[in-house]
Amino acid sequence: MAGIFDRFANVKTQRAAIVSNGGPDPFNVRMDQVLSQTEAIIGNRRTILCGTNNSLGLTFAPEALKAAHDALDDFGTGTTGSRMLNGTYSGHKELEYALCDFFQKDHAIVFSTGFLANAGVLSTLMGPGDYIIMDADCHASIYDGVRQSQAEIIRFKHNDAADLDKRLARLADKPGNKLIVIEGIYSMLGDKAPLAEIVAIKKKYANTYLLSDEAHSMGVLGRYGRGLPEEVGCEEDVDFIVGTFSKSVGTVGGFVVSSYPDFEMLRYVCRAYIFTASLPPSVVASAKVNLGLVKNGGALRTRLMRNAKMLHKGLVDAGLKVASDISPVVAVVAPDPQTCVAFWQGLIEAGVYVNLAFPPATPHGYSLLRCSLCAAHTEEQIKQVIGIFTEVAGKLGLLEETKRVAVG
Ligand code: PMP
Repeated sequence: MAGIFDRFANVKTQRAAIVSNGGPDPFNVRMDQVLSQTEAIIGNRRTILCGTNNSLGLTFAPEALKAAHDALDDFGTGTTGSRMLNGTYSGHKELEYALCDFFQKDHAIVFSTGFLANAGVLSTLMGPGDYIIMDADCHASIYDGVRQSQAEIIRFKHNDAADLDKRLARLADKPGNKLIVIEGIYSMLGDKAPLAEIVAIKKKYANTYLLSDEAHSMGVLGRYGRGLPEEVGCEEDVDFIVGTFSKSVGTVGGFVVSSYPDFEMLRYVCRAYIFTASLPPSVVASAKVNLGLVKNGGALRTRLMRNAKMLHKGLVDAGLKVASDISPVVAVVAPDPQTCVAFWQGLIEAGVYVNLAFPPATPHGYSLLRCSLCAAHTEEQIKQVIGIFTEVAGKLGLLEETKRVAVG
């Protein structure tokens, strides 16, 4: 008789293979103590965190901690309700005004996570007879959102503006709205969208709109941290910006901003806004304070990029195969999943935490050790990370392997 969990047999086999060598389990890491933005105690060991999304290192900003403590005292631990009913406090509205000010847009809607912001807006904005033309490497929350919409979904090749153009051209005679969906920085390899080209293409076609998920680029790109549209100078041409507070803003929550007057109608139709509890007041208060720190975080962005360059150069010079350009994400490619797990285990046992990522979450079928930098990393910490990477890769014979691949 088929059991209810039988269809997870493949997952079970894959999981068993990952932990079969008896080493630490990469998908069950437990931080017992968080010592700072860049260090934690994991398995009784002091560990450098080189795989968080805490890009500006704001998780312990004293101003945000104080605001969160005050909000806890004043408003309690949770709202116990939906934004639409009893879950909108003054803090939620103030945060939305702060987002409008930050992005220089007329409207902002705060959701409980970035995942819900994408899922909510994409599932409701586009209806029957509409088209969503999305980059094939978009995040899972975008895939889930578009799948729930009634629109037709078309994928274009990752970062291939010509392919996008071709696909839009085929739709030119069709009535219905077209929404292009991209990300500012893609999470696995840290590569940027060719935004100027995408905007130029968008402008060629009628009823065509652009949504950019700035989850990884907010706080990182642009003089004031408004992400890729600010860096490229085309903010007016991006119709909807989705973002999260769970990366550079250092807390949790999601949002969508736009200047369309009727944008507010989404509050009455988005199930992800209506049917889930709103963010706790302490989170909202810290997000608002950190938004100000992100805006004025020029010095942090400079440190972040310095750190990114240093790690990238160090790993490339050591002979590792680095799949990313210089960005806050530095992705090292392992030859196969088993070696990738052993590599990850070697790193964690030597006191460095990075993210382990496999297909389908990764492009090109890569098995990745995904490092991500923080502005708060010191040069000393980055040197240590490079040293440990080199040592572990050496023990696994990967440095020679890489050279062989490179020349052969
Ligand atoms: N979009 C992208 C591109 C992401 O990488 C993520 C988080 N990994 C999200 C959305 C979801 O953000 P959140 O953590 O706020 O749910």
